[in-house]
Amino acid sequence: MTKEANKIESVKVEYYQVPLAEVLSDAKHGDHTHFELILTRIKTSNGIEGVGYTYTGGKGGRAIYSLLNDEMKPLLIGKDASDIMAIWDELQWHFHYVGRGGLLSFAISAVDIALWDIKCKNLGLPLWKVAGGASNQVNCYAGGIDLNFDHQKLLSNIQTYLDRGFEAVKIKVGKSDYKEDVRRVEAVRELIGPDRIFMVDANYSMTKEQAIRFANAIAHCDIKWFEEPTIPDDYLGYADIADAIDIPLAMGENLHTIHEFTYAISQSKLGFLQPDASNIGGITGFLMVAQLAYANNIPVCSHGMHELHVSLLASQPHSGYLEVHSFPIDEYTTTPLKIINGKAVAPDIPGTGVVFDDALLTPHLKMSS
Ligand SMILES: [Mg+2]
Repeated sequence: MTKEANKIESVKVEYYQVPLAEVLSDAKHGDHTHFELILTRIKTSNGIEGVGYTYTGGKGGRAIYSLLNDEMKPLLIGKDASDIMAIWDELQWHFHYVGRGGLLSFAISAVDIALWDIKCKNLGLPLWKVAGGASNQVNCYAGGIDLNFDHQKLLSNIQTYLDRGFEAVKIKVGKSDYKEDVRRVEAVRELIGPDRIFMVDANYSMTKEQAIRFANAIAHCDIKWFEEPTIPDDYLGYADIADAIDIPLAMGENLHTIHEFTYAISQSKLGFLQPDASNIGGITGFLMVAQLAYANNIPVCSHGMHELHVSLLASQPHSGYLEVHSFPIDEYTTTPLKIINGKAVAPDIPGTGVVFDDALLTPHLKMSS
């Protein structure tokens, strides 16, 4: 294909606020009533449209929209859409002084995912093959945002996951009295039985001492990982916790540059990495982290946007567990996540496999260019 045929002709940006069916809470972000979705639609001169996106827990999305629409769009028009790494690197450095992660990484992600969508469509291949091709399926777990659920509701919610075919579940922890967390963890383990996989996530709400005390109090519950026990910036603190407990640690959703992942891998004694393509610089950034994980013998997992990560994790030989997140973005696409025999199955259509259903999304559109 000639360069001319792949020239970026237009970039459209859309901002949505999508309500959740019920209020969902964790220890540090508080109540979630909706999530934000910021879409980019990039069209090339050969008529192919790539769709990229990022999301938030309900805050900051308008600033990401502005970065994409006001700042990045003029830079993208006229570029060759297949020069993915050149565009990724240029966006990193153009906005470096006000970025180095944060909102910038969210905006770059929405561009990068659209470019990969175009790449896969040009090749006529699904993302799981283009990104690596290790497999088209991956282990998965249901990631509850359930700290506000009372004991009964917590258990009935976990039961709905089991009824949907999940063989692994995660709950939030971080109650003001850690003994209540322990009771909840024990009750969930009893409900799911001894053989299913079970993780806990504190959303960095604990001090190192609290995290160690809690982890040792649930050591008998066979926990796969303890996610974000304390603030993600305390790389060495994670190592202190890891040394004092018998449960592997996990983090990644709050690491938004490759350099942050490099520090975490070298300093934090993590058992699992959880990059999120919506905030680590898209598919390009996600695959960089996946390579770091591979080189360091750590399973790569994911956070959020399971409708996209299913293809990325399936593509990797060292994938751990796909988080099936409580923000049901996949329900607004034409290919909701498929779970067969406890495994998530990647879509087999050319592109990223994420095709938004306009009829379902349009009622939630707040801004567009
Ligand atoms: Mg988490």
